[in-house]
Amino acid sequence: MNNQLQKKLEKLASQDVGQVAFSEPLSQHNSWKIGGAADLFIEPDNFKQIATVLRFVSVNQIPLVVIGQGTNLLFDDAGVRGVVLKIGEKMADIQISANTIVAGGGAWVPQLTRMAMQAGLSGLEHCIGIPGTVGGLVMMNGGSQRKGIGENVVTVTVVNNAGITQQLSQSECDFSYRHSALQGSGCIVTRVELNCPAGDVKKIRRDMLADLRNRRHKFPRKQPNCGSVFLSTTAMHTTVGPPGKVIEDAGLKGLRVGNAEISQQHANFIVNLGGASSKDILILIKHVRQKVRKHIGFELDCEVRYVQPDGILVPAHIQADKL
Ligand SMILES: Cc1cc2nc3c(=O)[nH]c(=O)nc-3n(C[C@H](O)[C@H](O)[C@H](O)COP(=O)(O)OP(=O)(O)OC[C@H]3O[C@@H](n4cnc5c(N)ncnc54)[C@H](O)[C@@H]3O)c2cc1C
Repeated sequence: MNNQLQKKLEKLASQDVGQVAFSEPLSQHNSWKIGGAADLFIEPDNFKQIATVLRFVSVNQIPLVVIGQGTNLLFDDAGVRGVVLKIGEKMADIQISANTIVAGGGAWVPQLTRMAMQAGLSGLEHCIGIPGTVGGLVMMNGGSQRKGIGENVVTVTVVNNAGITQQLSQSECDFSYRHSALQGSGCIVTRVELNCPAGDVKKIRRDMLADLRNRRHKFPRKQPNCGSVFLSTTAMHTTVGPPGKVIEDAGLKGLRVGNAEISQQHANFIVNLGGASSKDILILIKHVRQKVRKHIGFELDCEVRYVQPDGILVPAHIQADKL
């Protein structure tokens, strides 16, 4: 970090912004367990602190990366030259009243889905096995079984890059498959209001347990990973199948680069065997794309985002293609 940046970050850290740490190892804040240090890591407690950070980085032109549980992110081994802001346990309140659930951006998705089930509310069963935060889920319009959380969203409260709180409606979020208008907007998701129809608690529970059993059976559990690396497309799915099958058919299951491996259990997962670098993962991604393009004729794009050291996020295949 250069002197000028260091001085600015020290000034920011001295303000009321929440918990701060300098040179925080990012490998402790993502499910792949990869990444160098963030110059300044901040975990805010409230909207006001978020607004303070956003205004400061905007005026001082400091790179900012917002994260939840880091379950869809690949950090570079060089880390981040700027601020990483985590919306986590400190902003994780969940309130349920009739059919409405209001959750903080940092609420943990499995807990949210369990609370919905206990209250007899349905519609979130497909999210039970997603280990991220509500903010990350809404940003990515995450879900499973071809569903997305956007279907249940009523409003999303954000702090925009000018530090102003805004409430966006479902249509303003423009949700589509693993996409929302929030991506790239610089907005931070602080609260989400969901509408969930009443359902039978026993059935909701059964469906959730079935989903968890299925995941336990199919997905690698013990080795660090970030879930599905590649996105599915309707054209590919109907012609040759989902990405996992396509990658397996291309003979790539078990392929290893450095300490990263295409999972032996599910080919759309890349696992960290211990000490994998961001480059190991990117080389594997590039190789998979080239092979699948050549032998099967489909383009595999990444769901997972690569975080550049200058704080810019891109789908990981874009960085992989540059190698
Ligand atoms: C084992 C495993 C299984 C998974 N299964 C699924 C699945 O079935 N379906 C699925 O969709 N995903 C799945 N994922 C991926 C991931 O869990 C989801 O995308 C999740 O919603 C990301 O949440 P997060 O808090 O970890 O976000 P992060 O990975 O921290 O961030 C993801 C994106 O959201 C942004 N972001 C995070 N929080 C906020 C916020 N509060 N405000 C603004 N932007 C924010 C980040 O900048 C980044 O662009 C899986 C991952 C793992 C490891």
